[in-house]
Amino acid sequence: MLKEKVALVTGASRGIGREIALTLASYGATIVINYNGSKEKAEEVYDKITNNNGKARLYKADVSDFEAVKQMVSDIKDEFGRLDILVNNAGITKDNLILRMSEEEFDKVIDINLKGTFNCLRHVSPLMLKQRYGRIINISSIVGIHGNTGQLNYSASKAGVIGMTKSLAKELGSRGITVNAVAPGYINTDMTEGLKEQWKDLIKEQIPLKRFGETTDVAQTVAFLASDYSSYITGQTIQVDGGLGI
Ligand code: NAP
Repeated sequence: MLKEKVALVTGASRGIGREIALTLASYGATIVINYNGSKEKAEEVYDKITNNNGKARLYKADVSDFEAVKQMVSDIKDEFGRLDILVNNAGITKDNLILRMSEEEFDKVIDINLKGTFNCLRHVSPLMLKQRYGRIINISSIVGIHGNTGQLNYSASKAGVIGMTKSLAKELGSRGITVNAVAPGYINTDMTEGLKEQWKDLIKEQIPLKRFGETTDVAQTVAFLASDYSSYITGQTIQVDGGLGI
């Protein structure tokens, strides 16, 4: 489904990004595995792909660093000559109630989740425009649609990602580039591991499918949006949340 395609997945060392990298590779894409802090975990993803006869390349870059992202995209262009798929997945949380939230907690989440997504969009767009082809998938969150207590910074960043998705879909549509967002609900990863069991049970009660999602639930949706099966879909946000957002 994705043979001959080159894909950049940000934050591909762990969790959802890892699964997206493995899934796109399983459909034949060459994967640039971006990571920042988790070198060994990123190497595991690389080994898994290449041991399965897939093609991959590791790239350490902090997505919140405009120049570092510029260099990463330039190196991808030099090495592969093209970039067909961009998945903006890298993200963090720094939860706190408004009365306790520090300026640093607000800025850090905006820098990585929102500006990091902008940085990748900014440097990848010229390349895709020249190719007259591209598939961009931004990972948002249902919290960006519905809000959540203690996540003012995170919800602002993820709502911003949806806004950027719609704007860029309008800007790039005439050149064969689609831009969509995926808004996961509660997915089993390091990010949700810290939640107290009692709290998890309460959340599961609210989810029509009565369970947290798995990383594959998100990764297969991303694969669809990265493929030509979704070529008439752009500017959309698909909720992968077990029905929580209904
Ligand atoms: P995770 O397990 O904590 O993994 C986060 C990933 O982001 C790691 O690979 C990490 O790489 C990378 N990352 C963090 N800061 C980075 C930076 N400055 N530059 C490059 N990479 C960076 O999180 P996850 O649950 O898989 O979440 C992935 C995405 O899905 C995030 O955007 C998150 O907001 C979104 N999401 C998750 C859930 C959920 O329930 N899990 C729900 C809705 C949305 P290193 O460790 O190498 O730094």
